[in-house]
Amino acid sequence: MNFRKKISALKVPHHKNTAGMHSVRISPPKEVLLPMSMHSGGPAVPVVEVGDHVRIGQLIAREDGKISSPVHATISGTVKAIESFTPNGGRPGLAIRIESDGKMEKDPNIVPPQVHDLDSFLAAVQESGIVGLGGAAFPLWAKLDAVRRNPIKTVLVNGAECEPYITSDNRTMVENSDYIVKGVGLLREYLKAEEFIIGIEENKPDAIEEMRRVFAGDSTVNVMPLKSIYPQGAKQVLLYNATGKVVAEGQRLAELNVIIINITSLAKMAQYIEDGMPLVEKCITVDGSAIKEPKNLIVPVGTPIRYLVEQAGGLKSEPGKVIYGGPMMGKTARSMDEPVIKATNAIIVMDQKDAQKAEPSPCIHCGRCVATCPLSLNPTAFAKAMELEDEDKRAAILNKEKVQLCMECGCCSYVCPAHRPLAENNSAARSFIRKYNKAAAEKAAEKKEGEK
Ligand code: SF4
Ligand code: SF4
Repeated sequence: MNFRKKISALKVPHHKNTAGMHSVRISPPKEVLLPMSMHSGGPAVPVVEVGDHVRIGQLIAREDGKISSPVHATISGTVKAIESFTPNGGRPGLAIRIESDGKMEKDPNIVPPQVHDLDSFLAAVQESGIVGLGGAAFPLWAKLDAVRRNPIKTVLVNGAECEPYITSDNRTMVENSDYIVKGVGLLREYLKAEEFIIGIEENKPDAIEEMRRVFAGDSTVNVMPLKSIYPQGAKQVLLYNATGKVVAEGQRLAELNVIIINITSLAKMAQYIEDGMPLVEKCITVDGSAIKEPKNLIVPVGTPIRYLVEQAGGLKSEPGKVIYGGPMMGKTARSMDEPVIKATNAIIVMDQKDAQKAEPSPCIHCGRCVATCPLSLNPTAFAKAMELEDEDKRAAILNKEKVQLCMECGCCSYVCPAHRPLAENNSAARSFIRKYNKAAAEKAAEKKEGEK
């Protein structure tokens, strides 16, 4: 990888308005919508039918395929519909709609899992439905499963939370530090990890203090304050800043005997091993210039955005943009009726003024986008390639320029004086090259088969 040794730091406004606010559990919504694709990999398959009564934590969809994750009921009530649903930027699939009975009854069959060795530990993590809660949504069990192929010496716990506004990981560190301690203990016991680094940006002094308090005397845990720069929490950036290591192109992180795990994922995992309740609720930051009372809310997965906004005092001005996650990497919601999903850590509602985009003007070839990219990529080359009609030529350039390495951090767009829509273009280019390379690989495999 052409990862620069000296990372260009981007100072973005923090807007961590809710950092000091204790998270509040909301009263349950009238209904939730649970998509079957809230994770990377194959969609889950419903195991309930319309009309079934379900309770919190009950399995409603089973994982399917090698990389997948189960889905559990997040409120008690009746399965009202199993309907078509296309996740934002994802493939069309199904979602289960549950109408609340207002009781919020837990499934009485929920008991802590029996865990006594690596196999039973990984099986339990798979049953928990926990996915990467920092945004990637990769099933957690599959990430931990890497230990079967490479010994894991170092666990890098990601508490950086570098995106503006979002403070839900910060609150996890302050409010649920006991689960973080238990999570570290579980990874030490079952993964045989020797060293833990908890990377936290310096703008979270309360979280740093709490982590230092709970891990005082544990020489295997290093609570490491990191500069408040963007994108400090991105895998490659965090790895380099916390350990000095670099993942070579095509290399897996585990080959360096390291895994990176989001701090809330770690806490949720420990909670599941303790009480057996799968991932059914999340702490979500609700903020942005159009929100009346920014808050950290604990909400059932599948709650409609509209209901969350109401719980944060409603809107104080006409919304211009609703974002899942932070303003740098988040995805725009298509409607306030869309649900929050497992990996949602924030809902940011911008007013019309903040949402306004400056008109793009022609590129002035200043090179700032390339100079700022933490991976030394060339977004102007991606943009030029995407203008080509000839898909083969386009793909050749995008592959040569390694567009698949782009982590869509948005730094290039942020610094562009011509306001070029680089991030959107990068995203489109990545999506194109994924499909193109997949089709090319299938074609090559067919040809090889035919030659046999
Ligand atoms: S979005 Fe991609 S190209 Fe732009 S700065 Fe981030 S990694 Fe580099
Ligand atoms: S930062 Fe913008 S104007 Fe400068 S080279 Fe990149 S795309 Fe062109």
